[in-house]
Amino acid sequence: MLVGPGGAGKGTVAAALTAADPRVWLSRSWTTRPRRPGEAEDAYVFVTREEFLARVADDGFLEWAEFLGNLYGTPDPEPPSGCDVLLEIDVQGAEQVVAKRPDAVVVLLLPPSSVVQRARLRARGDSSEHVERRVAAGREEVGRGRALAAYEVVNHEVGQAVAELAGIVAATRRKEPDGP
Ligand code: 5GP
Repeated sequence: MLVGPGGAGKGTVAAALTAADPRVWLSRSWTTRPRRPGEAEDAYVFVTREEFLARVADDGFLEWAEFLGNLYGTPDPEPPSGCDVLLEIDVQGAEQVVAKRPDAVVVLLLPPSSVVQRARLRARGDSSEHVERRVAAGREEVGRGRALAAYEVVNHEVGQAVAELAGIVAATRRKEPDGP
């Protein structure tokens, strides 16, 4: 599981790790957040609040949480056989997954500085008010994330962060050779 504050680069790093290692399967979350301009159509399954809550009622999520007014959830993962599941989620969700699967490995991804973090958030087109809300929420993500995480990776640059994550995945596979 990859957790960390907004602007750490979780989405970019998770996508790059998945592209680099076909045995890593990235779960696609559901969200009630509207799609951002320019955001890929398959970045999430974009749904209404009613659709989301219907799936909650059906017990169809491994975890779900509300983050800054929107709902996000991980459908029960169905990876191809032999693949390891990667979740890119907020810390409330990670706490739920660890409660259900204590063997899950949590990595806290951090931005190199708050200046870089704000610049990355602004580059996504979020308003400055929204950027500040994300930075504030991010402090809690880091505090609670540290309590869960076995590893911390500072995302100075995507290639370096992905290489560190690949090392963590390899070390985890050596410890748990039977896979996910
Ligand atoms: P964003 O709106 O920037 O795409 O995501 C906001 C936050 O929601 C990020 O911290 C992201 O990791 C988290 N998130 C994305 N998908 C899920 C999910 O399925 N469950 C939970 N709990 N958080 C998620």
